[in-house]
This record gives sequence, C-alpha cells and structure tokens, in this order.
Amino acid sequence: MKHKPKLGQNFLSDPAAAIAIVDALGNLTNRTVVEIGPGAGAITEILATRARRLIAIELDRSLAAHLSEQFPGIEVLETDILTVDLSALRNGEEKLRVVGNLPYYITSPILSHLFQHHAAIETAVVMMQREVADRVAASPGSRDYGVLSATAQLYTRIERVLDLPPSAFMPPPEVHSTVLRLTMRPRFAELGIAPEAFLVFLRQSFAQKRKMLAKNLRAAGFDPGRIMQALQESGIAPTARAEEIDLERMAALWRNLTRQ
Ligand code: SAM
Repeated sequence: MKHKPKLGQNFLSDPAAAIAIVDALGNLTNRTVVEIGPGAGAITEILATRARRLIAIELDRSLAAHLSEQFPGIEVLETDILTVDLSALRNGEEKLRVVGNLPYYITSPILSHLFQHHAAIETAVVMMQREVADRVAASPGSRDYGVLSATAQLYTRIERVLDLPPSAFMPPPEVHSTVLRLTMRPRFAELGIAPEAFLVFLRQSFAQKRKMLAKNLRAAGFDPGRIMQALQESGIAPTARAEEIDLERMAALWRNLTRQ
C-alpha cells in the first residue's frame, strides 16, 4: 500500500497490538465507535466485527474508498477529523467510544477536539508518539508536565495501554509510540472553575515554561500585588513555576485571582 508521509501514514502491522487496542475499548456489542484515521484498516477490521455501529473518519480519498468497499457494514466519512461535530454522531444519550492510531502531525489538535466534545464521549483509546503520551500523562513537578498535561488531566483519567516500537508499523516511523486510554471525567465543577476562562489562564501560566508563574501572570496583565496575595492564599511559593503546581492549587489560584 502506498503511503503519504504528509498525512502521517504509518500503518500498524502488528496484529496483536491491533487486538490489544480494541480490547482496551471494552465490550462494544451495543456501542457506537468512532475510529480516527482508519488507514488501511488494521484496527477497523477488528472493530467491524465487534461494534454495533462503526464510523470511520479518513481524510485520504483513496483509503476512504477502499475502506467502504472492504467493510460495507460501516460508515466511512471522507473528511478531516478536526471538522467533524462528534456530538452529532451520538445516538440519543449513548456516549461514543473513540479509537485511533492518530496522524501524529495533529495529535494535540485532535486531543483538544476530543476534549471540546467531552460530553459526547465516554472513552478514547488513542495512539500517539511516545514523547507526547509522556507529556499527556506527566505529573506536576516532572520535566514533562505542561499545558498539555494539565488540560488532558482536567478532562480525563489517563491510563497507559501499551508501548510500540517503530517496527510495529509499515513504514516504520522515526519515533516510538504509546497507546493511552482517556476516560472522560471533567473536573471543572469539582474544582470550581469556568472551563473557557481557566484554559486561557493555564496557557498564560505556562506561556514561558522556564519562567516563574508570577512573571507569566504579570505578562498576562494581572496586577502584581494581587498575584502575590493570590499565590499566598493558594499555598503557592512566590518563586514557583507553573509546572510545579497541581491542578487543585492552580484552580485555587485562579479562583483567588479572579474573585470580585
Ligand atoms: N489506523 C491505521 C493503522 O493503524 O494502520 C492508520 C493510522 S495512520 C498513523 C493515520 C491515518 O490518519 C492515515 O490513514 C491518514 O490518512 C489519516 N489522517 C491523516 N490526517 C487526517 C485527518 N485530518 N483526519 C482524518 N484522518 C486523517
């Protein structure tokens, strides 16, 4: 099969890994599954035998046509995943299960897209470059913790499913890969934060990762005196960097800073 590197086409060639990925989605007998980037169908062929309804979203025209022929029982949408209103794919109240060996060049935008549609999704089992998975799953205080970790952990519970070497793909990519299972459980209400405003605040806090949090917040336009007071009220050292702060204290800081 010809591949297009620009579209991140590295096809899974390890059948045991494909089974493990689908197994991580749980029992699919009564479920609607959305597959992102089905490609040549390594995961699709297992899903097609297990899911009640399967919607496969593939941007590449020839691959999409091939999938429709090969799996007449599934729905193939030939389009960019980032333009798909996932919430509109639900049947009534049923939540979607999402799966995909992601096109790595747009991993972060795809994750943001899934988070935006969190109310329509129960679980997502997604493969990405190992270093990106490390950032998604990183704990506060570790080198990898950043805005991607904080955002992912605000929306989901994260589990590592498996790691795969380049040799598990055709053609082999230059990087190792990791499959994560993301179970949606947004923490906004529990932490007393407004989603949109808090996500902006996170981006401001991590704007210059190596700089002190207080400095980043000053650059974002917060009043210096107010910053120092809110840091103290939230139990955060004045010299702390955003990467050291867990979500509970970050939320407290936002509440204290934005209190009228
Ligand atoms: N699932 C297959 C597998 O595991 O063998 C293929 C995975 S390959 C890493 C990524 C797939 O995503 C490719 O088939 C590529 O054409 C498709 N793709 C790339 N960009 C896309 C986009 N914006 N929306 C939907 N699919 C996309």
